[in-house]
Parts: sequence; structure tokens; C-alpha cells
Amino acid sequence: MSARILVVDDILPNVKLLEAKLTAEYFDVMVAHDGFQALDLVQKDQPDLILLDVMMPGMDGFEVCRRLKADPKVTHIPVVMVTALSESADRVHGLEAGADDFLTKPVDDIALFARVRSLVRLKMMMDELRLREQTSNNFAMVDPVGSEIEQDVRAARILVVEDVKAVADRIVAACDGAYQVTVEPAVSEALALARGGDFDLVITSLNLNGGDGLRFCSQLRAVEETRQIPILILVEETDRKRLAKGLELGVSDYLLRPVDRNELLARVKTQIRRKRYQDRLHANFHRSMTMAVTDALTGLFNRRYMTGHLETLIARAGPGVRGLSLLVLDIDHFKAVNDTHGHAVGDEVLREFGGRVSRSVRGIDLACRYGGEEFVVVMPETELAVARKVAERLCRHVAEEAFIVKGGDLALPITCSVGVAAWRPEETGEALLKRADDALYVAKREGRNRVTVAA
Ligand code: GH3
Ligand code: MG
Ligand code: MG
Repeated sequence: MSARILVVDDILPNVKLLEAKLTAEYFDVMVAHDGFQALDLVQKDQPDLILLDVMMPGMDGFEVCRRLKADPKVTHIPVVMVTALSESADRVHGLEAGADDFLTKPVDDIALFARVRSLVRLKMMMDELRLREQTSNNFAMVDPVGSEIEQDVRAARILVVEDVKAVADRIVAACDGAYQVTVEPAVSEALALARGGDFDLVITSLNLNGGDGLRFCSQLRAVEETRQIPILILVEETDRKRLAKGLELGVSDYLLRPVDRNELLARVKTQIRRKRYQDRLHANFHRSMTMAVTDALTGLFNRRYMTGHLETLIARAGPGVRGLSLLVLDIDHFKAVNDTHGHAVGDEVLREFGGRVSRSVRGIDLACRYGGEEFVVVMPETELAVARKVAERLCRHVAEEAFIVKGGDLALPITCSVGVAAWRPEETGEALLKRADDALYVAKREGRNRVTVAA
């Protein structure tokens, strides 16, 4: 895994040292000697990760970090603060500014590469999601997610897996009021809980009496439902090797014992924020996927989706196929509705019409708005005679009850015409649609408000 890393430090030997270590591991390294230069480079070159010195003249690392994290264009780039002070207050200060992690000088190699690799991996995954998000935003399809730091962390749910009661109690006390905390001492129970619990964060220890903490983390990562939940682990200073292993397995962050309350809270907040950010990216992606296949006015499937689905059904249809039929429906004299009552009333009629169609067909049938005031229903496993019955029922269902529009002020009598066709072996979807459309034409010619079966 290669990545571009920006090293920011005002002291040249520090820059040289980090540059040498990272270059030896085949990372691409860029350097900046103060905060201003760093901000400039980030805008221009968009690195994958930033190693940021805290104490610099002019603008300190906290300020640089704050500015980066407040900018939606670069907020996703992970920032690791490199500090000579191992003061907890300093870490908290940095995490509050939005830093993703800390390294203490002199920089320990295991910690350096573990953090760099895990943050770069996380970023690559997020980049993919952000790309899709950008596409959706370009089409104004979804609300923009905004920056990571803007995410609401209230009412987040945390699962604490810890068999030392005193430690668990301390975590619960620290999170008091801010989050909903569930404590589970047994690893075996915790896994089931995590799978069903919709948690935003798991906090656990590497050294559990009742089980292997590392194995628990890898199990969480192996299961679909829990793969995305951030994991924060508590480790002893002497447990560096297993910590590196944990980070490799996908543990999101760690805290050294004895746990400092403020640092715990700051790291918890960072993880939850990132999770919420990721969740919203996922939700937006899902929404834009849905929007790509549905018609905005009626909520039915759109034409593109229907034609694709029809081709799939035909490709799958073998000699033993029990029939595949299709209806094309068109509202009669719809132009007159628009002309007399306005386009908005026309839209209301289309929505209600779509509703009546989708309520009248089975779950496996696919109702679609083909365009304008024309609709198509694809019915798998349906013989022509049955399809005709469905069409006649639909036609009655539309004509029998007037369409109520303008919030109940207006009742419009609406009718429609329907063409029905059943698939013939070797026929393309396009040809099938054409035959149903021709039948619809005949229904129109013969007086509308009727069903015609294709020759
Ligand atoms: P026919 O019985 O022969 O089908 O007559 P018609 O008036 O229904 O057919 P025509 O194709 O002449 O007119 C269709 C009208 O549908 C014209 C168009 O402005 C209107 N229309 C198409 N899409 C929409 C829409 O999304 N909203 C509204 N309100 N009207 C639409
Ligand atoms: Mg029409
Ligand atoms: Mg028409």
C-alpha cells in the first residue's frame, strides 16, 4: 500500500528523520516547514495523510489542524500530531482540534507504521464513498454530508466489553449522560450483542481474563454487521506488539492505561463523529442508488430500470417458462387535465394513477412510469389470459372512482387505455413492448377506457 504523506515540522532534522523512515517503506513524502506552507500544499496536492508537528512558530499545529478539519474539501485527510510532550492535556487539545491520532517524539517505528497504514487504509475506503457522494451532489440528488467535525454525536451507543468491573465502571462514569453505554463482560455474549445492537463504538481491552481481546476484534471485523463499527482498545504500555497486531486487524484507536478521562472522551468523540460521517455517506449513496432507478414523481421504477429488468427476465426464461406478460397503460385525454386545471393538478393525477397501479399488482410484478402519462407493468410467470384480467381490473379500478385532487376540492373522472402482450420465445424486450404499445394504440382508436390484447 503506497500513499502520499505530508510531513510538517519547523526543525529540519525532524523532517529529515521522518522522511527517511517513510521513504524506506516506499511512501511518497512531501514536506512543509511551517503551518502556512502546509495549508497551501494540502490544498494544492491533497496528500493521503499528514504528520503534523505541534510546536511551530507563526501558526501552531493545533490551529493548522483546526483549519484543515473545518474545510469540507480536505477534512477527510487524516492528521497525526507529532509532539514532544506526552502530556495528556495536549493530546486532548489536539483531538478536540480534530486530529486523528498522536505520535510522541522520538517516534517509535511500530507505532508510526501501524498508525500510518491503518489511517491510510481508512482514507482509501472513504475516498471511494466520497467520490460517489460528489457525483450525487453534482446532480443535486442528496443533501451534502458536510465535514466530519460537524457530525452530531448525541445519543450515540457504546458497547463496553470489559471483565474488570472497576475499569468498566470508570468508562461508564466518564461517558455519563453523554452516551448510552452497555457493559458486557463476556466476549461470547458481546459478539451477539454487537451484531444486533446498532452500536456506534466498541471499547474493549487487549487483555481480557475470559477471552482473547485480539480475537474478539478480528471477529468483529470478520462479520458484515459489525465490520464498520469503530473499535477503541485499552492497552498496557508493555503490550506494544499486540497493539500493532490489533491496529493491523482494523482496530480504530487505542488508549494507554491508566486511562485518562479527558483523553478517553476526546477519542470516543472522534470515533463516533467519524462513524456518523461514514454512515451518512453510506446512506446518501444508498439514496442516490434508489433515485437512479425510480421516478421522482410517482416513486415507481423508471424506464431505464424496467427495460433492464425485462431483459434479465427474458435472458432467464427457458423452455419451461410459465409466461411473461406486459401491460402498457396510457391515461386518456390527459392533456385536457393539464390544460383545464394546470400542470400541478396533472401531477397529482399522475401520482394517484401510479398509486392505483402499484396497489393493483402483485409483489413480483414490476410497475414503472415509462414516461409522461404512460405506465408499464411487467408480470413474470403470467399467462396472457391472466394478464388480460389484471388489465381489465386495473382499467375498472381507475375509472370507477374519481381522482380527488386539490386537497379534496376537485374530483376528476379519469380513464385509461391498456395494451396487453405476452412474451414469445426469441422475442426481444423491445419487440414485446412494441407489440403491447401497438395494442394500446388500437384501444385508443376504438374509443379508449378499454383493454386490447396484442395479436
Ligand atoms: P390520449 O388519450 O390520446 O392519450 O391523449 P392525451 O392527451 O393523454 O395524450 P397526449 O400524448 O396528447 O398528451 C400527454 C400529455 O401529458 C402532454 C404532456 O404535457 C403531459 N405530461 C407529460 N408528462 C407530464 C408530467 O410529468 N406532468 C404533467 N402534469 N403532465 C405531463
Ligand atoms: Mg394519454
Ligand atoms: Mg401519451
